[in-house]
Amino acid sequence: MKHNFGAGPCILPQEVFQEASQAVLNFNGIGLSILEISHRSKEFEAVIAETERLVRELLAVPQGHSILFLQGGASTQFAMVPLNLLPEGGKAAYLDTGTWANKAIKEAKKVGETVVVASSADANYSYIPSAYEIPADAAYFHYTSNNTIFGTEIFDTPKSTIPLVSDMSSDILSRKINVSDYGLIYAGAQKNMGPAGVTLVIVKDELLGKTGRTLPTIFDYQSHIAAGSMYNTPPVFSIYVSMLNLRWLKSKGGVEVIEQENIIKARTLYEEIDRNPLFKGTAAPADRSRMNVTFVTEDKAHEAAFLELAKERGLIGLKGHRSVGGFRASIYNALSITGVNALVDAMQEFEEKNK
Ligand code: PMP
Repeated sequence: MKHNFGAGPCILPQEVFQEASQAVLNFNGIGLSILEISHRSKEFEAVIAETERLVRELLAVPQGHSILFLQGGASTQFAMVPLNLLPEGGKAAYLDTGTWANKAIKEAKKVGETVVVASSADANYSYIPSAYEIPADAAYFHYTSNNTIFGTEIFDTPKSTIPLVSDMSSDILSRKINVSDYGLIYAGAQKNMGPAGVTLVIVKDELLGKTGRTLPTIFDYQSHIAAGSMYNTPPVFSIYVSMLNLRWLKSKGGVEVIEQENIIKARTLYEEIDRNPLFKGTAAPADRSRMNVTFVTEDKAHEAAFLELAKERGLIGLKGHRSVGGFRASIYNALSITGVNALVDAMQEFEEKNK
């Protein structure tokens, strides 16, 4: 048995893979593959409608916020957010907490004035800056709720008088959020929502159409809202598999139930990292992510040997991102406590071997 700790694309529930593979051969018994039906067919209309309903229900998305399924990944949102929300001559505020936040900042700077309110680049993004001021005259404040590479997460919604925009690519659907606190939320699907290829956007309608910019249609949220995410051919299969995964999450009891599991999984792993003298965590304890657990060996010479042992035990995808080194265990919704326990066992076995 393999336990997949990959950061994304990543593990999804086995039953989702099973059902998706069936639908590739014969979707809903109609004698056609999900891959060959029209996105305008009534069958797919039902899929996209149910996916939207499930997102609305699981995240309690209020009326007045639209739900979109777009292409181009979260990286396209780095550009679409300022194009749609930053008025000509206005400014936007950003918090710099890692590689992805930084990429979002770079794109915003191409569109208009961009103020970076704080950064933790000085300590290789190992913590979340806490003392900063958000300019009250900025059009919005952007932050990355979970820093996939550095293993830090922002649990408390920043207090802001201006609209909040958050890149939730790697922690959406892992814990409860209050969507009405946000002007816009975006997330590449390929962690907790579904496979790569679709990006979720949740946007407060009243914020749109106010920049004075003329946008290419494909970059304008309003054209996607008007077309119900069907302005052009949507990523049919990615949306379908996301729907299956959202059904799975709902059947488990939803976000609140999975959040409790995620808390236990993360606690179990961090406790072992803190206890085991051979390992140490890289993120500031107060800012530790529940989704991406980053750690290193105290002795650099142990690194390759532990990876080898992990591989032998079926623990896959643990190699840390090159900008942090060491290990990263991504423990998304579909990775069960059994997987975490298997990793903890391997760490204890490694400790025994190196006594
Ligand atoms: N933001 C975050 C927090 C991410 O983790 C990632 C990818 N892992 C991205 C943005 C970029 O997403 P994409 O590859 O979908 O453009």
